[in-house]
Amino acid sequence: MNFDLTDEQKAIQSLCREFARDHVAPQAERNDREERFPYELVRTMGELGLMGLPFPEIYGGAGADTVSYALAVMEIARADASTAITLAAHVSLGASPFYLFGTEKQKEEFLVPLARGERLWGFGLTEPGAGSDAGGTQTRAELRDGKWVINGTKAFITNSGTDVTGGTTITAVTARGPNGRAEISTIIVPQDTPGFVRSKKYRKMGWRASDTRELAFNDAEVPAENLLGERGKGLKNFLTILDGGRISVAALSVGLAMGAYDEAFAYAKERHQFGRPIAAFQAIQFKLADMLTEIEHAKLMVLKAAWEKDEGRAFELTASLAKLYSGEVSRRVVNEAVQIHGGYGFMDEYPVSRMYRDQKINEIGEGTNEVQRLVIARQIGLLSP
Ligand SMILES: Cc1cc2nc3c(=O)[nH]c(=O)nc-3n(C[C@H](O)[C@H](O)[C@H](O)COP(=O)(O)OP(=O)(O)OC[C@H]3O[C@@H](n4cnc5c(N)ncnc54)[C@H](O)[C@@H]3O)c2cc1C
Repeated sequence: MNFDLTDEQKAIQSLCREFARDHVAPQAERNDREERFPYELVRTMGELGLMGLPFPEIYGGAGADTVSYALAVMEIARADASTAITLAAHVSLGASPFYLFGTEKQKEEFLVPLARGERLWGFGLTEPGAGSDAGGTQTRAELRDGKWVINGTKAFITNSGTDVTGGTTITAVTARGPNGRAEISTIIVPQDTPGFVRSKKYRKMGWRASDTRELAFNDAEVPAENLLGERGKGLKNFLTILDGGRISVAALSVGLAMGAYDEAFAYAKERHQFGRPIAAFQAIQFKLADMLTEIEHAKLMVLKAAWEKDEGRAFELTASLAKLYSGEVSRRVVNEAVQIHGGYGFMDEYPVSRMYRDQKINEIGEGTNEVQRLVIARQIGLLSP
């Protein structure tokens, strides 16, 4: 076994660490407070090649591996989870469907500008009545005169309404079998499609600087060639995307936990009580030791899943284990980080206060903890597929 990162992986990690320290961290508190989308950070991430990190250079990407991508998300989440989810949702959910299922023409038209960071793109699976039960999609797309006519609503879609968003790829029911079973397909819906309406941004507990909206389709028409992947394979293809997405969400959880640990470590050395730094108390030392133990464990799981994917091996089980575990680790770590800060941790100007709010979604998005356990149970052969 070899736990050393390659030179390229180390270079990407330190590039992202410096970018996060010098550019992301200084504006994280303000962006959160003002619910301000970080356009200039997105532009810089595009210039640095991060918005297309794991895609081949011929499609505008940087040709890096999944391990590098996971390290990049970790470093950025360490400074700010909102910026990290903007990157992770763009790469894993927005751009990946074009890379995995697009025709050459679709890759050229859609993937290239996304990988260069010139545009953002949404992934529209969740609906008001279909969350964990993603196959319960009610949005319909009917083929009429060479066009898909779409009606329905999508909920909680990341990156779907920024000034640089190019559109959203959605799942929709394109036919029903005689038994009423839905045929679900994936359709590309550009932002300027008539009848495609984005709501105002949701007001959120965390990830406040990220863009999340409800989308409505009222007889929205797109050309028949906007079908992405094979007709009827939409749900299956989107679930495949989520398999890879789990690595980046798990990396985000680890990064957030690392950031909370950094803050708690520094505070424990600087804060004095009873005439000593609180870091001198064994109760605080044990908390920090436990936090680091769990972070290291979660990080190894994420990197193992990423490595398996890069090696072309089955990575789905490890990615699910990593997503579940790192989400729960991030909860325990941010909680202890606030505890170490005492009353100051409850104050908004301390980063751990923001991290505490940003953490909760790690246990809900891209499969709740409960659903993640079901996915694992299925993967180890305890449930029928
Ligand atoms: C900030 C944010 C960003 C998001 N971004 C996107 C995005 O870009 N694209 C997208 O498509 N979606 C996105 N989502 C949606 C997200 O993936 C869903 O919220 C999530 O999958 C859960 O669905 P739900 O909210 O409908 O909860 P529900 O499915 O209604 O779950 C409610 C509760 O019931 C439990 N539950 C449900 N079914 C079962 C079961 N079978 N067994 C046991 N317990 C169960 C759940 O675990 C949960 O505790 C985002 C959500 C948020 C909040």
